[in-house]
Amino acid sequence: MTKTKTVSVLGAGNLGAQIAYRLAFYGHDVTSYDINDDAIEAAKRRVQTIAGNYTRDLEGVSEDTAAAAAAAITFTTTLEDAARDADYVIEAVPENLEIKRDTYTRLARFLPEKTVLLTNTSTLLPSDFKDATGRPEKFLAYHFANNIHIANVVEVMPTRDTNPEIVEQVIEFAQTMGMRPIRLHREHAKYIINSFYSTWVDQARDMWVKGVADIETLDEVAAMIAGSEQLSPFLAQDNTGLGVAYEITKNRAATGDPLAAEFSRRLKQEFIDKGNIGKESGQGFYVYDENGNPTGLSEAAKKKYPPVDPGK
Ligand code: NAD
Repeated sequence: MTKTKTVSVLGAGNLGAQIAYRLAFYGHDVTSYDINDDAIEAAKRRVQTIAGNYTRDLEGVSEDTAAAAAAAITFTTTLEDAARDADYVIEAVPENLEIKRDTYTRLARFLPEKTVLLTNTSTLLPSDFKDATGRPEKFLAYHFANNIHIANVVEVMPTRDTNPEIVEQVIEFAQTMGMRPIRLHREHAKYIINSFYSTWVDQARDMWVKGVADIETLDEVAAMIAGSEQLSPFLAQDNTGLGVAYEITKNRAATGDPLAAEFSRRLKQEFIDKGNIGKESGQGFYVYDENGNPTGLSEAAKKKYPPVDPGK
């Protein structure tokens, strides 16, 4: 059986463009679908940036090799073209249930029998929209982490309806695009990586809001335990962007959690509303120099806030 697959990626945003590029880099036939010409133009620019990242970050990748992968991607705004002859369709459209359902429903009538459907959803469960696919036995989650050329793992998570043979096929497919598959036996909200990670970060947020320790101490201790600064929770939130942290903690606050409520309030009023949204803007919990290295805590991170007692 040939290893080269015909693969379409739906949505050519941050993750979709990375996935399409990854597939092309590993020699698969790739079509990248997005909703209109403007989105496609943005995707082409994104792909150029990704090619630059491969040359910069990965040993032995020449500019020619990286450019050839970018040039090999076919772009389309037509779902019918994306479906044609696809062995796999990887869906990376916005994280919105209605958009996902609508995309799968419209796609279904063009798909050949053989196509396996993979969703990159982060916070929804594939079961939430498996009925819209029309083929739940050939549908599962295939979840990447951002910067997939560095974080080259993919979580493979079936629903109760997924055919086990399809799971095995997808595990093999992951390896043909240079990804290490992480096998989940059943659905689990937040998968494995985010289940660990979100608990870790939530603990750090809660300790800061309760006034247990300052941010630098929490980050230092976390790095000591994990053996890597990458898992320092406040540095990591600056890297991802404080907008994401705000959305997550606002949702947690809506469940009645007073610590999350105070954390999201601080984030919004003391950081985001002042334009300090993390490393990208030069300031978040830390201040960054022109090379993107942290130079120390920001004033908002150093400020003494009244500690919150959750009454526990
Ligand atoms: P994004 O907003 O960067 O990209 C979404 C793309 O989908 C855009 O190009 C947009 O034009 C396009 N789009 C909008 N409506 C569409 C439609 N109806 N049909 C097809 N395309 C449409 O989002 P993203 O960060 O790439 O996330 C995409 C998916 O990947 C989400 O499910 C998200 O949860 C998941 N994901 C994101 C990350 C991350 O770090 N950003 C990591 C893992 C998984």
